[in-house]
Formats: sequence, C-alpha cells, structure tokens
Amino acid sequence: MDPNPISTGKILSPLDAATPEQVAARFGELRKQFDQDTAGATDENGWKSLRDAWLGRKSGVLTQVTDTWLKPSKPELKRAVGQSLNELKAHIEAALESRRVAIEAAAEQSVLAREREDLSLPGVARPLGSRHPLRQTFEEIERIFLSLGYSVVSGPEMETPYYNFEALHIPEHHPARDNMDTFYMAAPQGASPLLLRTHTSPMQVRTMEKQQPPVRIIVPGKVYRRDNPDATHGFMFHQIEGLAVDTDITFCDFKGTVEYFVREFLGPKIKTRLRPSYFPFTEPSVEVDATCVFCGGKGCNVCKQSGWIELFGAGMVDPAVYGFVNYDAKRYSGFAFGLGVERLTQLKYNINDLQLYFQNDVRFLRQFA
Ligand SMILES: [Zn+2]
Repeated sequence: MDPNPISTGKILSPLDAATPEQVAARFGELRKQFDQDTAGATDENGWKSLRDAWLGRKSGVLTQVTDTWLKPSKPELKRAVGQSLNELKAHIEAALESRRVAIEAAAEQSVLAREREDLSLPGVARPLGSRHPLRQTFEEIERIFLSLGYSVVSGPEMETPYYNFEALHIPEHHPARDNMDTFYMAAPQGASPLLLRTHTSPMQVRTMEKQQPPVRIIVPGKVYRRDNPDATHGFMFHQIEGLAVDTDITFCDFKGTVEYFVREFLGPKIKTRLRPSYFPFTEPSVEVDATCVFCGGKGCNVCKQSGWIELFGAGMVDPAVYGFVNYDAKRYSGFAFGLGVERLTQLKYNINDLQLYFQNDVRFLRQFA
C-alpha cells in the first residue's frame, strides 16, 4: 500500500461514482489510507509532513478532493460528497491533534530520561556562615535576662534631646553631656532637633511613660558617639540597657542580679565587686568590676596587675527620673545598668581590637562558628 499519496506524487483519481454508497466507499478508502499514514508518523517531523500531505492548502489531499471530487460532481451526489468530505476532515483534524499530544508527551519523557540526575554523585559542599560574635553575646545576655523574667524591648536610634538627656536627669549644660559627644541631625527651621542616641537609656523613659511598675526590661541596640575609631573606640557601638522597677526593689536585689548575670556570662568562679561611681540618672551609682578573666585575679598586663577588670556601670534609679514619668518615687524603687556588648565580648573571647568586629574578615569571624 502506498503510504503517502502526495509525497509519492500520486494524484487523486476521479471520483467515478453513481450512488451515495459508491461515494462513501471511496471516502472510506481515503480514511483507511490516512489512518495508515498516521501510524507511521512517530516524531515531530513525521507529524508535520503528515499534516501538510493531508491538509496542505495548495495540494493537500483534502484540497484535491474538493477540486477533483466535490466541484465537478453531479448535482444529485453533491450533498453526499460534501458531507463525507466534512466527516473526513473532522476525523483527520481530531486524529492529528491526539497524535501531536502523544508525540509531545513521548518527547518530554525522553528528555526527562536523558537529563535524569544521578543522586548518588557527591554534592558540592557550600560553606556555612557563622553568627557574628557580637550577635552571640546579644543572644547570650538576652537568654540570661529572659530567664530572670525580663522582656526585650527596642526603640528608635534617632532620638530627641528630651529622651536622650533631659528626662534622664541630664539637663542642658550638664557636664555629663560633654562625655557623650553627640551626633545632631540638621533640623528644619522651627523643628525640634534630633540626635543619634548616645546610649540605650532613652528606652527606660519611653517604657516607664507607657507602663506602670512592675517593669523589667532589657534594651539591646546600637548607640553613637563622636569618637575616632581605634582599638578601644568607635563612633557606633552596642549596648544593652537594663531596668527593673517595682514596689520593694532594694540594693540587695540589684547586687544579686549583677552577680548572677556575671557568673552566668563569664563563668561560676568569677567574683564581682562594686565601686562608687557617678551617673546622672542613678543614685547611688556603681562600676561593676569582675575578677580578671585572663589571670584569674593574680594580676596580669590586661588588668594592670590589679586582678580586677571593669565590666559596666549601673546603679539605683535616681528618684528624679520618676518625676518625668509620673511614677510615685515614694512607692517605687529600682535599678538600671548599661552593658557594653563589645566590651563583654572582648572579655569573653580575649579580643584585643574593637575594629575587628566591623571589618568582616572571615579569618576572624570563622573562629566563632
Ligand atoms: Zn589579669
């Protein structure tokens, strides 16, 4: 049997039919021929030449049927020829479509089979980063105070002088402002000036304004001061402010909390001592010292042979501060502390240069994985 009447150059012979039955028989032959051709079209190219051979506009089989069978047919057979032609056309179109779908699905399967991944091959090892040492210190300090019932709050790095100074009992021209060289923002005419907070203490005031005691918070965050960067200074560093206010908080509670924190953070053998100090918003104020982590208290270069190192400043909240937040100073008392995150990280890991924290040198960072 001739597989493709067009590609072999075979031209359709005349209809030569006298009855509708003979017309149907001739169309049946064509349909049989088409079905055979279809079975041979197994890829995209085969499918395209099948489609062109049967549906091509210029010389496709259906065009030939129209020209040599339908147009010249006798009037009494024209209806039967037309109907059979429509049926054949519908059959061809439906068969071509389902063939196309089948060929595409088979092609996709073969691509999938070809591109199949070998899951037994070893993978490419991707290096994992590690948490920054300052971040690890933040998380460790937060863990310790959360276990004591404190909650963590955060506040704006751009502050008003009121929250950064006045409400903390540091009025204008107070000498304490000289110790905290401040970055001020240019303010439009008439607008109140803003500054970059020099400590996390403004959140003490903001929290007490909104909340009556008991208050137990820590405030981790960035603070800014006009300093030239060197091994012990930076224009930006990190603090964790702490504040506890309630009806019967005494200096003993304060001391117990400080000792607990230092032992948890630096180790159970570390001892603490308190030295009188001065901060505008605490009274009394203290510096918290710990036995030197490097020599165990025997004396070394880091502790200047004293056996003690300075940890952070703290104290009982000055009753004057309560006046700014409408707390009854006769009823409430509390303590506050300000932890330097860089300082505490330095003591824990023996880091001798503050700038190492911010250079992002992986040789440094990798040690904290
Ligand atoms: Zn020492």
